[in-house]
Amino acid sequence: MSELTTTQATMKTPSRSATMRANVFRGVDKFGIEEVERPHAGPGDAVVRVTLTTICGTDLHIVRGEYPVKPGLVIGHEPVGVIAELGEGVTGYKIGDRVLVGAITPCGQCHACLAGHAAQCGHGEGYEAIGGWRMGNTIHGTQAEFVRIPYAQANLAKIPDELTDEQVVLLADIASTGFSGAESGGVKIGDSVVVLAQGPIGLCATIGAKLMGAALIIGVDGDDGRLKIAKKMGADHVIDYRSQDVAAEVKRLTGGGADVAIEALGTQETFENCLRALRPGGTLSSLGVYSGKLQMPYDAFAAGLGDHRVVTTLCPGGKERMRRLMEMVRAKRVDLTPMITHSFKLDQIREAYALFGDRRDGVIKVAIRP
Ligand SMILES: [Zn+2]
Ligand SMILES: [Zn+2]
Repeated sequence: MSELTTTQATMKTPSRSATMRANVFRGVDKFGIEEVERPHAGPGDAVVRVTLTTICGTDLHIVRGEYPVKPGLVIGHEPVGVIAELGEGVTGYKIGDRVLVGAITPCGQCHACLAGHAAQCGHGEGYEAIGGWRMGNTIHGTQAEFVRIPYAQANLAKIPDELTDEQVVLLADIASTGFSGAESGGVKIGDSVVVLAQGPIGLCATIGAKLMGAALIIGVDGDDGRLKIAKKMGADHVIDYRSQDVAAEVKRLTGGGADVAIEALGTQETFENCLRALRPGGTLSSLGVYSGKLQMPYDAFAAGLGDHRVVTTLCPGGKERMRRLMEMVRAKRVDLTPMITHSFKLDQIREAYALFGDRRDGVIKVAIRP
C-alpha cells in the first residue's frame, strides 16, 4: 500500500519491475506457481527471501474452499529466510540476517496486543478475532521466493547461528500452536493429559504436555503411522479410535478422567470425546478450527455443573514467542525435525499439496524450498 513512499527508504532494492515465483490461490483446487510482482518493504515492514517454508492443514482448508481467502492471494504462513529489505523505522536488524517469523504477526501496539492477546491483534486499535493471522490470509504469504513481513520490529526473530532452517521452521505455527494447547490448558506437574488427534498440531500438543510436566499423556488417532510417531513424541499410551472407546479407555487409564483434554482437529466428534474424557473440574483446551455448529451434550458437560473449563487458543506469534521456542530447540528440549518427512522444491507445490492432503507415505510435514 505504501510502496511508493518507501522506494527511497530501501536503497539496495532491485528494480521495481522484478518478479518472483509464488503459489497463488485462484479458487477451489485452483492454485499453483505463478510469476508475480516481488514485494517491497514499506515503513515498518521487512522483506524476507524465503529459504524454507511448509504447508499447513489450514492451507488445505483454503485450497479446498473450506476457509475463504481472496483469489490472487499468495498462500502459506510459515517462513524461515534471510532479510532482503528493511523498511523505514525498523531497527536492530541488517540485510542478510537469518530470521524466523511466526505464523501470527501481531502489531505489538493495539489494545489486543498490549492486553496479551496478540493473536487477536486489532490493527492499531481494539481487538479483532483472528486479526493477528495476516500472511497467507489477508496479505500475501510465504510459499514464494519473497514475503513482506508487516510490523517487522515485532516479528523478526533472529535465528541463532547453530540452528538450521529445518530445526526452526515448524516453530512458526505447529509447535507454537501445539504447545499452547498444553499451556492454555494449564497443564501442571503430575497431570494426566489426553490429546485428540495426532496430526502435526496434536503431536506438538503431546510434546507440549510433556514439557509442561504431565505425568501421563495419551495420544488418540486412527492412523497407525501417527500413533507410532505419537509414542516417539512423548505419548505414554495411544488409543486407536477405530477400535477403542476413547472416553472409556481414557477413564480407565487415568482412574476417572483426564485433567486436561486437548482438542487438535476441529470436529464435533473430537470435541465431544474430549468432554467425555475429562474428569469433573478438568480443562478442555481447544486448538481445532471448527465449521458449522458445535454442540455440547448435557451429559458430557455434567449439565453445565461439572466445573469444566473450555479454552481456545490461536497460535501465539511475535518475535519473543519465536525466540523462546528457538531456545527450547537450542537447549535440546525439543527436536521437531523427525516431523519433516518429505521435501519439495517450490515448483513442485501441487505435488506437495497432493501428498500432504492425501496423507500419503506417512507424511507429517513437508519442507518447501523456494
Ligand atoms: Zn498453520
Ligand atoms: Zn496488535
